[in-house]
Amino acid sequence: MKKKKILIVVMDGLGDRGCKELGGLTPLQATPTPNFDWFTKNGIAGTCDTVAPGVRPGSDTSHLSILGYDPLKVYTGRGPFEAAGIGLVGKPGDVAFRCNFSTCDSNLVITDRRAGRIDKPDTANLVESLKGMTIDGVDVLVKEGTEHRAALILSGNGLDPRVTDVDAHEEGPIHTSIGKVPEAEFTAKVLNKFVRESYERLKDHPVNKKRVAEGRPPANILVPRGAGDFPHISRFPELHGMSAACVAGVGMIKGICGVCGLDVVDLPAECTGGAGSDFVLKAEAALDALKSYDFVLMNCKAPDVAGHDRDPRLKCKVIERLDKMAGRLREDFPEDLVIVFTADHSTPCSLGDHSGDPVPITIYTPGNVMDDADTFSESGCAHGRIGRIRGHEIVPICLDLADRAEKFGA
Ligand SMILES: [Zn+2]
Repeated sequence: MKKKKILIVVMDGLGDRGCKELGGLTPLQATPTPNFDWFTKNGIAGTCDTVAPGVRPGSDTSHLSILGYDPLKVYTGRGPFEAAGIGLVGKPGDVAFRCNFSTCDSNLVITDRRAGRIDKPDTANLVESLKGMTIDGVDVLVKEGTEHRAALILSGNGLDPRVTDVDAHEEGPIHTSIGKVPEAEFTAKVLNKFVRESYERLKDHPVNKKRVAEGRPPANILVPRGAGDFPHISRFPELHGMSAACVAGVGMIKGICGVCGLDVVDLPAECTGGAGSDFVLKAEAALDALKSYDFVLMNCKAPDVAGHDRDPRLKCKVIERLDKMAGRLREDFPEDLVIVFTADHSTPCSLGDHSGDPVPITIYTPGNVMDDADTFSESGCAHGRIGRIRGHEIVPICLDLADRAEKFGA
């Protein structure tokens, strides 16, 4: 029998609570979604606690869960996943940090944590001067991210991520990193030396001289936080015998997928613009990726942005556009595809942040059993035969529907 392919569409922060601006409905309940509803009516539905009931997931831990991993076992902090998101993937055991390019005085007192929101190409030029650094036998890798952000990887023997942040998270003196356990003291020492060295190499850099001459704050120090080691993680393609790719614009999501062994598809700039992103184009990129991969995870960030902005009407508009994306997928639906529409967590507009409320999930493939659910919403999906599941159960359910599951027993 021909095995089917799998597409999981994760609409970031899509779930919500009743909004008083919408007469007590959620944005999904208040917005007509003929295409999502078609998939729900013809497919199977349910609700999903991506990590566990009542747990407020981060987008990183929830995506790990949706990919079938136990985040409690494999999540080692934001550092490694964000580093991977900007293309800096370390070996298991390497320690990664998120960093800010900041402005400091000669006593290393921070006067601007974001160095005037410096961006590329300045940050890329500054990073060049930090290349080839080795401290006490530890190789140092730095890469610029968006705006003032960068990632740092320490690679070598005897490293331990249990160190405190150098970033004081406010203007003022930087903190000296210390090991939270004796085994991490060496890592803290290397980290502190790196921060001092970044200042030495950046303070008189031509980019900074030019910035100062133009009255802008120099980016003369890198300030790390959020240490985490690259996890020993089984690669998704080997685990499931499927080639796999991710279609996403957000660095952290690309990082999670990259660490799990998924290929990251390059997208046109129109697909990576957050709230203004072109979802139809992204759906086309996903359909295209499915020609060469067995499994694709697609992430659309926009509903989460509207939730964080506490803007239910914007979220409704985003949902309307997402439904058009679903329409595009419906129009060209490959016969051999299992598709999942769900979210990584709820981002209720009333809260302006992630909540632990379960999210709707719909799975469709030609020939599945139809259930009683016929509308795609927090309540509409709740009557479906999937019931209430955890995020890590999504992949096994899809594998079964795709005729890829191994038989358990005789
Ligand atoms: Zn999210």
